Amino acid sequence: MRLSRYFLPVLKETPSEAQIVSHRLMLRAGMIRQQAAGIYSWLPLGFRVLKRIEQIVHEEQQRAGHIPLLMPTLQPADLWRESGRYDDYGEEMLRITDRHKRDMLYGPTNEEMITDIFRSYVKSYKDLPLTLYHIQWKFRDEIRPRFGVMRGREFYMKDGYNFDLTKEDALHAYNRHLVSYLRTYERMGLQAIPMRADSGPIGGDDTHEFLVLADTGESEVFYDSKVTDIRLGNREIDYDSHDQCREVMEEFTSLYARTDETHDEAAFDAIPDERRRSARGIEVGQIFYFGTKYSEPMGATVVNDQGERVPVHMGSHGIGVSRLLGAIIEASHDDKGIIWPEGVTPFPVGIVNLKQGDAEADAACENLYKAFMAKGLEPLYDDRNERAGGKFATMDLIGLPWRITVGPRGLKNGVVELTSRRTGVSEELAPDVAVERVAEIYANL
Ligand code: ATP
Ligand code: MG
Repeated sequence: MRLSRYFLPVLKETPSEAQIVSHRLMLRAGMIRQQAAGIYSWLPLGFRVLKRIEQIVHEEQQRAGHIPLLMPTLQPADLWRESGRYDDYGEEMLRITDRHKRDMLYGPTNEEMITDIFRSYVKSYKDLPLTLYHIQWKFRDEIRPRFGVMRGREFYMKDGYNFDLTKEDALHAYNRHLVSYLRTYERMGLQAIPMRADSGPIGGDDTHEFLVLADTGESEVFYDSKVTDIRLGNREIDYDSHDQCREVMEEFTSLYARTDETHDEAAFDAIPDERRRSARGIEVGQIFYFGTKYSEPMGATVVNDQGERVPVHMGSHGIGVSRLLGAIIEASHDDKGIIWPEGVTPFPVGIVNLKQGDAEADAACENLYKAFMAKGLEPLYDDRNERAGGKFATMDLIGLPWRITVGPRGLKNGVVELTSRRTGVSEELAPDVAVERVAEIYANL
């Protein structure tokens, strides 16, 4: 993408309405525009990151064997009357009446609808286990939308639902989701710690939230600092193996880590002094096992191998796709702007031409551009007639992890400069070597 032809409305001033750094930076970098309280347009740069995050979520869900579909945003109220949640959900639910006076709602979540789909088609235990998920806009009429996309009213969420014959199988689905979520967040360059939580209006016994530690987080959390040393890394996991998934779940959840709702002073005090932490965190996901809470009232049953009709065991599992942009920026920025982890960056590399219009510099940039495209990496090329300082400031603000600077002086010596946004360290390299270096980093993600 050539910046001269792109739509990147960066702001010079710091927007006064934004209270936290991720919100400020997303506005300044031209990623989002507020259209109403808690409702945003995704401008091209923000949209690219949203799609990157969505892509990682899809890949990791499908790696775990979960099947994508797409349910609508608007739902009939009658489904929610069956589960009893139409009255229970309260003012967060946006209720709509259509022209025929039918009660509708903008879905805040999809347990009822997925249960309806399941009961309409699946009749036998032989069709289990089954996990269906979608990534779709949700609406919750939050009393205090704030912090930009972090607490919106309209927001983008992955929600998945498992259907199993037995509690044992459903707990495997729970563990499998936990593992797939850990991998998802690590690919985004994030550490999200599973913490025992409270189930709220979804209902259920077993639930963990995934929290990114950040001072601006809305949740109060308590944990043993040893949990922050654990990583999933590149280990091979067989998602069908109950034992392997359980072992990972136990490894990540046996140390004390809880949100304030489930916090237990006595257990917390038992942690050695130097490892006892209380902090703030951003909730970027949650998994639930809730048994037959929806399948029983809504008649989602299968015939088991004894010929008996039994309600299925279910769980639901959510990732805050749009909230993740804010969480990643909270965890990864400096005073100049965003620092995107390679896994989610809108463009893998930026090219800065120090002397636009200089035949040699222009040609070198064009060649770099082509070389990156040939490797499947689309650079953002700043080809505007601007001063170098302005170009650097824009690149630093929008946070691409790698920048290649091209100028007549370097080209005389046959080199360009490759700079890491994270460390600020620059290296002079022949253009083809610089391309190789960057390509290698992305190939190894
Ligand atoms: P919260 O406690 O932050 O209100 P929740 O527990 O009600 O969230 P869930 O039903 O668990 O939310 O939804 C799954 C995920 O969707 C959450 O972990 C969070 O990352 C994201 N999410 C929830 N509400 C919002 C919102 N208003 N704006 C953006 N993302 C949200
Ligand atoms: Mg939650």
